[in-house]
Amino acid sequence: MKILLIFNEKKFEYDIFNLIRAFYPDAEMEIRYEETDQILSAEADLIWRIAYGREQITVEMTQESAASTEELPAQKAAGPERAEAQTVWRETLQLTAPDDRKETKNQLKRLVYSGLVKQCGHPLPWGDLSGIRPVRLVTGMLEDEHMTQEEAVRAMQTRYCVSPAKAELAVSVASREQTLLQQFDYRSGYSLYVDIPFCPSICLYCTFGSHPLNAWKDSVEPYLSALTRELEMTAQLMQTTRLDTIYIGGGTPTSLSPEQMDTLLTCMEHLFSFSDLREFTVEAGRPDTITEEMLSVLAAHPVTRISINPQTMHQKTLDLIGRRHTVEETVDAFHLARKLGFDHINMDMIVGLPGEGAAEAAASMAAIEQLAPDAFTVHSLALKRAARMNEFRDIWRPVSFANSIEIMDAVAEGAARMEMSPYYLYRQKNMAGNFENVGYAKAGKACLYNILIMEEKQTIVGNGCGAATKLILPDGSKGGRAGNVKSLQEYLARTDEMIERKRILLQKQ
Ligand code: SF4
Repeated sequence: MKILLIFNEKKFEYDIFNLIRAFYPDAEMEIRYEETDQILSAEADLIWRIAYGREQITVEMTQESAASTEELPAQKAAGPERAEAQTVWRETLQLTAPDDRKETKNQLKRLVYSGLVKQCGHPLPWGDLSGIRPVRLVTGMLEDEHMTQEEAVRAMQTRYCVSPAKAELAVSVASREQTLLQQFDYRSGYSLYVDIPFCPSICLYCTFGSHPLNAWKDSVEPYLSALTRELEMTAQLMQTTRLDTIYIGGGTPTSLSPEQMDTLLTCMEHLFSFSDLREFTVEAGRPDTITEEMLSVLAAHPVTRISINPQTMHQKTLDLIGRRHTVEETVDAFHLARKLGFDHINMDMIVGLPGEGAAEAAASMAAIEQLAPDAFTVHSLALKRAARMNEFRDIWRPVSFANSIEIMDAVAEGAARMEMSPYYLYRQKNMAGNFENVGYAKAGKACLYNILIMEEKQTIVGNGCGAATKLILPDGSKGGRAGNVKSLQEYLARTDEMIERKRILLQKQ
């Protein structure tokens, strides 16, 4: 299916594009401007025209033919003159505040959304929101507009057409975040991120640019040397600022040998003061990297939180998505970690994996509940362009990529049975079913780092391949970003440049 968006001026075109994309994830879409581009009515199945006036906006949707879209290609083959453009929906919006850009955008999005709901016959759980951080909107309502929680739930529905359940979810996450952040002066501290860009094998859905260990084993030691240089510089630059949380992610950090991990953690302990550290996460991630030796190394250092990620408890799916480990390895790794005293273990699960529907999600959830982790994160599969799974999407066509309200509800109910509440939430583009990622945790087991980075509350200093440093100024405003290159070879060749970029940014603090 092809959809054309035609504007009479450049305004909100990407907001409208993303909104329509959410309803038609597989459609080919194009933006044109009336004055500069030639428009041929027969070259798209659906045409949206947005015409801005001083105090009103007219939105019109035309369908190439009254016939069903399956018949359209045949009609096109017979020649454009066969197709009849038909206006199926047209509305004119009177602007309530023509000079208020934000209000105008909200009004226009609500109108386009109502047309899409009519055309497609269903709403979206997150209404007309196309951004990735709905919780931030709620935080603004609670903190800046001084709304009560009930008012914020209503405002999410009326302003952004969010479903009542998702409005409740966003408000409950925002309120819990507020409570957690009130416990310390997060603005005067910072968090440290360290990236280990290696994995035992590359999962088909991976968008992190990780490197398979076998092919890159000779680069591990050079990488750790370069990373250590970057950490030394970070420690110098941040020596007068309090370190609140550390997150070692990737990749799979536990792909390192226990000796390499021990050396890295020892080095970090020498470089940074841990006296005020509230949380130290090591993303163990892949169960096939978790050994007693590795866990003993982590336990010998002040690591407070680990993540053991099953993603699914179905062997067939694990084999299909290229995670070369077994369900039993996940269970064994979890029990081993408990035996060694880890009392803050998160588990990640992905919903919307190929071939998995509500029954599979419920079975995975039940298996995770049996293990009783302390925190649990559910991800809706996001198929970004980079993922190898997307490249092979034609091969996967017979296999369904399903996510549904039933699945997300079942997962939320499972988290509630484990006595967990939601504490952070974000969305990505191209998510199966337009849903969200949610972190659940038992009381006292929420991951502060996740909140700080997602809501951009505190400076995060990133180290290593692909890591980003984001500066947050004392007044809470953004001070800039310095991103390290994603390619391992580039990182090794340009480590000094990455360090210099970061030094320049952090000097602004
Ligand atoms: S474990 Fe994570 S980082 Fe590694 S390949 Fe799989 S999805 Fe990518």
